Amino acid sequence: MDTKVFIMEDSNIDINGINKCGDIIKKGGIVAFPTETVYGLGGNALDSSAVRKIFEAKGRPQDNPLIIHVNNFNIENLVEEVPKVAKELMKRFFPGPLTIILKKKPIVPMETSAGLETIGIRMPDNEIALKLIEESGVPIAAPSANISGKPSPTDVLTCIKDLKGKVEGILGGSSSKVGVESTIIDCTVEPPCVLRPGGITLEQLKEVDNSIYVDPAIMEKPKADFKPKAPGMKYRHYAPKAPVKIIKGDLQKTIEKINEMVQNYIDNNKTVGIIATDETKALYKSGEIISLGSRNNMNDIAKNLFSTLRAFDQIEVDVILSEAFSEEGIGLAIMNRLNKSAGFHIIEI
Ligand code: AMP
Ligand code: MG
Repeated sequence: MDTKVFIMEDSNIDINGINKCGDIIKKGGIVAFPTETVYGLGGNALDSSAVRKIFEAKGRPQDNPLIIHVNNFNIENLVEEVPKVAKELMKRFFPGPLTIILKKKPIVPMETSAGLETIGIRMPDNEIALKLIEESGVPIAAPSANISGKPSPTDVLTCIKDLKGKVEGILGGSSSKVGVESTIIDCTVEPPCVLRPGGITLEQLKEVDNSIYVDPAIMEKPKADFKPKAPGMKYRHYAPKAPVKIIKGDLQKTIEKINEMVQNYIDNNKTVGIIATDETKALYKSGEIISLGSRNNMNDIAKNLFSTLRAFDQIEVDVILSEAFSEEGIGLAIMNRLNKSAGFHIIEI
């Protein structure tokens, strides 16, 4: 397939490129596009054949639903009812990195919801994404624009790497400013339950409704008989080529442990990637060291996480060792993604 690529900056939009991509979606094609969380791979959410193309291009499991991206608050045509708390969450956090699960109307095909009676709705906080929805004239169903299982793309070059030849269009903007996916909150249950931590923190959600809580299953290694509430919970996710191991505990001891492990790997002719921070990067003796940023700016750590995992794919290290982070605020999303990328391989010290 011939993939048309349009690249621009978020601050300097080329409306012609967005128009062309809108046309592709109108005609039932699929397009990768920037959002503030990660890049998405979108098609007409109401067209089952367009949605099937998304699953095919990504190699995504059939039972993992997509999120519907909208550019206005009129979602009554898509969902049965909008509870008061959902309205308040929309008012406070749309546009932004929050996906709200609601009961879907029959107009939303089962392909989009992957067989569920519910659907996730989100309004991205990105001018290109909002313009693309406007130009296509339909709600856009989109998961992240990566091959299923890999770390999500936060820049256009990564989308091109994963999807060129598999999709009709790739629309590039600036790098994603949040860097981890949206927070998903199920508003079909009382109290509303967070199914995936993301760009909006639990602390922020609790300001709207203090009864909102995080499903405890999301931070644990799934057991053999695990029945996930969100289908995405059960899949291997965000995984670079090399195995990832997280070293968790006192920071000083973590550095000592990582230095010791690196030396062991090197003695066995293996190359090691280290996920470090600005505060610790100078303390590692060898290995390929990438800093996610300062521990004083957890938003930067989130923003750089996926691109760092992808960078180690390029360097082709044999193993990746990572420091752990606090699970407060955006840290919950960071550790959720890191735990999954490591397949919950956590060394507690
Ligand atoms: P992605 O952001 O690429 O992982 O795809 C969207 C994610 O949203 C999926 O992995 C699901 O876990 C979640 N999701 C979407 N729709 C629903 C829904 N109706 N119920 C529960 N989770 C959903
Ligand atoms: Mg994804």
